[in-house]
Amino acid sequence: MSEPLLRAEGLTRHFKVGGLFSRKRLHAVDEVNFTIGKGEIVALVGESGSGKSTIARLLARVYKPTSGEIYFEGEPLSRIRSRKQRLAYSSDVPMVFQDPYSSINPAYRVSHGISRALTLHRRAMGRKARRNELQRVFDAVGLVPAGAASRKFPYELSGGQRQRVGFAQALAFRPKLIIADEPVSMLDVSIRIGILNLMTELREQEGVSFLYITHDVASARYIADRVLVMYGGHLVEQGPTDDVIHRPKHPYTQLLLAAVPDPRAPLGVSDASDVGEPPKVVDPEEGCRFRARCPYAIDRCEVETPLLRDIGPGRLVACHVAEADPQERRPAAVAGVEQR
Ligand code: SF4
Repeated sequence: MSEPLLRAEGLTRHFKVGGLFSRKRLHAVDEVNFTIGKGEIVALVGESGSGKSTIARLLARVYKPTSGEIYFEGEPLSRIRSRKQRLAYSSDVPMVFQDPYSSINPAYRVSHGISRALTLHRRAMGRKARRNELQRVFDAVGLVPAGAASRKFPYELSGGQRQRVGFAQALAFRPKLIIADEPVSMLDVSIRIGILNLMTELREQEGVSFLYITHDVASARYIADRVLVMYGGHLVEQGPTDDVIHRPKHPYTQLLLAAVPDPRAPLGVSDASDVGEPPKVVDPEEGCRFRARCPYAIDRCEVETPLLRDIGPGRLVACHVAEADPQERRPAAVAGVEQR
């Protein structure tokens, strides 16, 4: 098998919380393994606080891992030392942020940030080369005519256009992988689809890979080749998008999918059940972090943390009962086991 573009191995990030005499550790991300292939769109889905954005910041080198390693093109990020190496990596793996209103400096024309980045990274030296690059990236993200769009101030653009500027800034680096952290969550529903289509076009035309971070499983289904599901700092399921969406194995993935609104259902009717406590990620005990909400929990879930297991081609799931027949996997209370 060829080396993937990016590989995370045992990726872990803890934060110290509490006062001087009550030090605790928040386990934001624990022992996470995944890969991103060349030209692949991988969606990382989960609810707020599941660790998605911490992973984005680890990949962007905003945080250092507590343990584990990230390999980019086979090279460990922990070996990056010099300014030249840091700039090269941030060019190869830029980030697009959730809030298009704050990721562009409102005091300057939208071309300013891109021109500065091109100069800083020595991507296009000289006025003519910069103008050509601006034309290229604005064309690529559909902001045309490029000349007029690049002369505008951020307040003259719509939310969707500002997010396109965010992607143009990332493209200026000629990236290999873009980390898109909830890029459509602050946009109107009517313009989200345009940004999602833009990501697939950039993959086709520029060969860029994406890590698309979202809490919206419906949008992940729309654009991703593979889906990674996070819960309480753990990766609980991963696999090809269609397979995960149509045959979810982990009870949390099933809950996420059940929570997607069905336009055909009458108002007020939903299969989703989000009762139960949120996961305990501060000094967590052994056991499955989803057990307080899981209708299938068994005694083993209380004492043994499930590890990701291979359950089929490209499919991994971290659940003690995930392979059981749906008829057998009755809610614990029905099966005569104390329900948690
Ligand atoms: Fe976790 Fe157990 Fe539920 Fe599987 S069955 S998700 S291991 S609590």
